[in-house]
Amino acid sequence: MNSPDADRRLHTAVSILLLVSIALLAWQYLGLNRVMRIDGEHAYGVVAIADTDEGGTSVTSLQRQGQRLLWRCRLSPVYEWPYCELRFTFSADPHQGLDFSRFSTVALKVKADGNGSRRLRLFLRNFDTGSAKADNPLTWRLNELQFEPHADGSEIEVPMRAFNVASWWLNNNNIPIERAAVETHNVPMMLLDTAGVREKADLDFRIDYIEFRGKWVSIGEMALFIVAMWLSAALVYLAHWQLRMRSTLAHSREREAELQQLNAALMLENAKIGEKAKRDPLTGALNRAGIRDALLDEASRAITEERPLAAVFCDIDHFKRVNDEHGHAMGDAVLQQFSALLRKRIRQRDYLVRWGGEEFVLLCPDTSLEHAVQLAEALRRAVETNLWPTRQPLTASFGVTTLATESIASFLERTDRALYEAKHLGRNRVVSAGVPHAATTAVDRPNT
Ligand code: GH3
Ligand code: MG
Ligand code: MG
Repeated sequence: MNSPDADRRLHTAVSILLLVSIALLAWQYLGLNRVMRIDGEHAYGVVAIADTDEGGTSVTSLQRQGQRLLWRCRLSPVYEWPYCELRFTFSADPHQGLDFSRFSTVALKVKADGNGSRRLRLFLRNFDTGSAKADNPLTWRLNELQFEPHADGSEIEVPMRAFNVASWWLNNNNIPIERAAVETHNVPMMLLDTAGVREKADLDFRIDYIEFRGKWVSIGEMALFIVAMWLSAALVYLAHWQLRMRSTLAHSREREAELQQLNAALMLENAKIGEKAKRDPLTGALNRAGIRDALLDEASRAITEERPLAAVFCDIDHFKRVNDEHGHAMGDAVLQQFSALLRKRIRQRDYLVRWGGEEFVLLCPDTSLEHAVQLAEALRRAVETNLWPTRQPLTASFGVTTLATESIASFLERTDRALYEAKHLGRNRVVSAGVPHAATTAVDRPNT
């Protein structure tokens, strides 16, 4: 079924799929990076706020220095929870927040100077459609990450998993447990604030960037895509294979039908050849080979079923003269007419055999000696009265007998002897031979 060509194509396809899969995995691993950087040059609004609204006296200021944000905070422990805060607004409409859910890490490059606690908190406030209220940012989900900037200002990179939802926010907003996980797909606002320690502190933060990092396509998505690619290829291959199978099957059926036709034609031809070999070409009568099987069958049937089987030998009288006087072609014509005359007067189930030369044998199943003699006599008269192409009268002699308990050879020999007897007695007559060893009876006819 599989041709070497198809095998080669399959090999090529599998190799290409393998290469593409490896390339896609490598691409996902090494490339496809997606980065969102927030720094002094980003387009979103950022403001510094302190606790003055809550009655505190902390002071804060923000300066841009190229890409950097320089943030000063002077905390004074007047308000119960003094704080400074940087507020990044990504979208005025809370429904149009940024999607942070596809980032895998967050990198913070922040340098802190000054006395007091340097701990900071980064908040991604997610607007949960359905439960959050647009006009009350306190109802926006509070995803929180606490960190302490390195003293040398080097980058800190943490996985997004490090965020958690502030428990007091969950309590205040009565959030059920099944909705308590971090949600960052719609973040209109990000906050960076001091970690809420009640103390006097003078802090200077230099923020180079806050960078969210991830992949445009996750490893899971890429794996799914590769699996889908292999499955589609397998499906295409199977469909193609099935089509090919069907056409091969149809083709082989066609071949089979052709062969059957050819076989039938050959068998017919064979049968014709076999039939031809059994017949004499001049008269169409059976030849000796042609009667052989029938003779054996009829003889055994006659014996087992106890039915008479008669044989009539007939020989044209003085046939040599026809040839001598009218030529060999005329002799042939007479032979053909003679055989036609016999055939016309015998039954369908009788056998007409050209025994040799101008001598014919009739084999008549289910025919008694009496009936066979009658038949021979009728034939003799027909020959005698027929108008022959030589325009001269013609006669024939007949030897008749039925099969007795004897061999076929003996049966034929007795019939032949009866014919010989007919010739001997003067020709144009029928001689029947009774059972073996019995006396021969002659049906006398006047010799013409
Ligand atoms: P009888 O009365 O004793 O039978 O004499 P006959 O002349 O018929 O017998 P004989 O055996 O002497 O001669 C038979 C002749 O039949 C001899 C042969 O040339 C001729 N013969 C045999 N086969 C054919 C044949 O196929 N075609 C023709 N034209 N003649 C044939
Ligand atoms: Mg003869
Ligand atoms: Mg003869």
